[in-house]
Parts: sequence; structure tokens; C-alpha cells
Amino acid sequence: MFYTKLCSIYDEKDILKREFPFDEFHPLLRKFLMDELKLNADHFSPYRFASYFGIDLKQSIKFFLALSDNQGLFNKIYKYQCSNCEELNIITDEEDLKNFICHECLEPESLENQNFLDEVKIIFELNEEENELKNSLKAHPFFDKHTSNRNKSKEGDVNLYFDHLSLGQTLEENEQKDSEGNVYPINSDLAELEREVIKPLTKGLRKDA
Ligand SMILES: [Zn+2]
Repeated sequence: MFYTKLCSIYDEKDILKREFPFDEFHPLLRKFLMDELKLNADHFSPYRFASYFGIDLKQSIKFFLALSDNQGLFNKIYKYQCSNCEELNIITDEEDLKNFICHECLEPESLENQNFLDEVKIIFELNEEENELKNSLKAHPFFDKHTSNRNKSKEGDVNLYFDHLSLGQTLEENEQKDSEGNVYPINSDLAELEREVIKPLTKGLRKDA
């Protein structure tokens, strides 16, 4: 199930085939997800993936972005702690980011604001329909709960691990080059966000300057 799902995602993403060879990354990803699930993770961090396997962080972010495009392996969830009332807002839809209003104090925020881009954190969850996938990972013979205390005392509960990946940084990494040097976005939801809201604003500012 996991294997089949990953194969179909690879089929649709050239950047995965080109930069993250399936034979190399399929076992890494499988091991990573299983180990994180053993620590009761409910989300997955490209920071942890990078440090776990000694992979370049930018590459790790690109990998996660490619895997979360078009209802892929991961869903993207956005977290923002309101600078006005400190309420934690969980945003599941890019549309709600474009016209953000704090659900507690109703203070609006704009993607035009770099501070907002830096404060919105992006987290990756396994797709809701992928509970089956979780079970297929857990059913794998390598998944042994009784020997699963990998660095547990050192790392503690993985869900308390603060995920620093900001929307701003994510947008910076959201591009790939083909062999001819043409630049394309990796993740289409984020590309749309950038195209509709952020790029026009930046352009406008530059024109005025
Ligand atoms: Zn608020």
C-alpha cells in the first residue's frame, strides 16, 4: 500500500524522479515514517528528516513539498499564533491564509507582511485517507513497538518538538529547475498563493521604490 502510493506520486512528479531516486528514498522515507510513528508523531518535519539522514535541509524541504502536492502523501497544515491575542490558529486551506482573520480576536493579517510569513508555521500530516497507509506501515515486520524506544529519553515526545519551518522559508524553496534551467514551482497550492497574493504585492512595492 505505501509502496504503491509512493510509486503513483513519483509517476506524477518529475522532481522526485530526478532529485530523489525512488530506490534510494523509498526505504529512507519508510524508515523515517515508521520511527516517527513509533514516537507517536502526528506530523512530520523536514528538519527531522534532514538531520536523521544527514540530508541537506533545502533538499529535505523540497522533498516534502513534492510529496504534499495534489493530495499526495502529506497534507499541509498552517499554524499561526496570533500576535494580538496569542490564540493558536490552525489553518487547513490556502484560501483562509489569503484573507486571514484570527478566529479569537478577529484581527486580520496579510501575506504582504513578512513577519506574518515568518510566523506562520507549516506542518505536514499524513493524508486523512491515509490511515490505511499508517496501518500498512505499522503492519510491516520491521515495525516492532517493543523495540521502539529510539532516543526517546533524549528526544521526548515528538509532538512537543517545535517545528520551525515557516511559510516564508517554504515559499523560498518552492522551486525546481529542469535540465534547461527553466524554473517551475514544486507545490502547486503554494505556487498559487505566491502568484495571487505575494508576487504582485512585491512587484508593486518594487515599482514604487
Ligand atoms: Zn487573535
